[in-house]
Amino acid sequence: MLINLTDVFTSEGKVKKMSQTLDIDRVSYMGATYPVIEQSDVSLTFTNIGTGQVLLEGDMTLKVSIPCDRCLQDVEVSIDVTFSHELAAPSEENVQSEEEEQCFISGYDLDVETLMNNEILINMPVKVLCHEDCKGICMVCGHNLNEGECGCDTFVPDPRMAAIKDIFNANKEV
Ligand SMILES: [Zn+2]
Ligand SMILES: [Zn+2]
Repeated sequence: MLINLTDVFTSEGKVKKMSQTLDIDRVSYMGATYPVIEQSDVSLTFTNIGTGQVLLEGDMTLKVSIPCDRCLQDVEVSIDVTFSHELAAPSEENVQSEEEEQCFISGYDLDVETLMNNEILINMPVKVLCHEDCKGICMVCGHNLNEGECGCDTFVPDPRMAAIKDIFNANKEV
């Protein structure tokens, strides 16, 4: 979805507000894909802050289903995405500074999907837990320890034995 910004770039002091409905059904992050459960519209405000310069501010919230890092149960994670960018109108000067080129704008057109995909990835949580004191899963039988003890003997007195046990478990999973 492209938004043409010619009027904001060329009219001194102009402010343009809009809200866009996006249809994002999943987020791909660090090699995994997570389903999006809920999403708000994207609010965007464009403010002319000088000749050929526009300040873009926006926000959206979404809910993504991500497995708990410890017990692997799906957790609904709310992600607040807020951002602001200074955009420059295309000109000969801009062509020269390619490092500052922003992939979500081409000419006077803003690509909302590309912009929002970037912003969502920046705001993805590094660590997800179903709750602070999640007990995780049993390393022996895979039982979710939040649902109670499984009774496995997980006490390993010798660290060298622990290493052997890890190798054994890794092989078992293949
Ligand atoms: Zn958990
Ligand atoms: Zn167990």
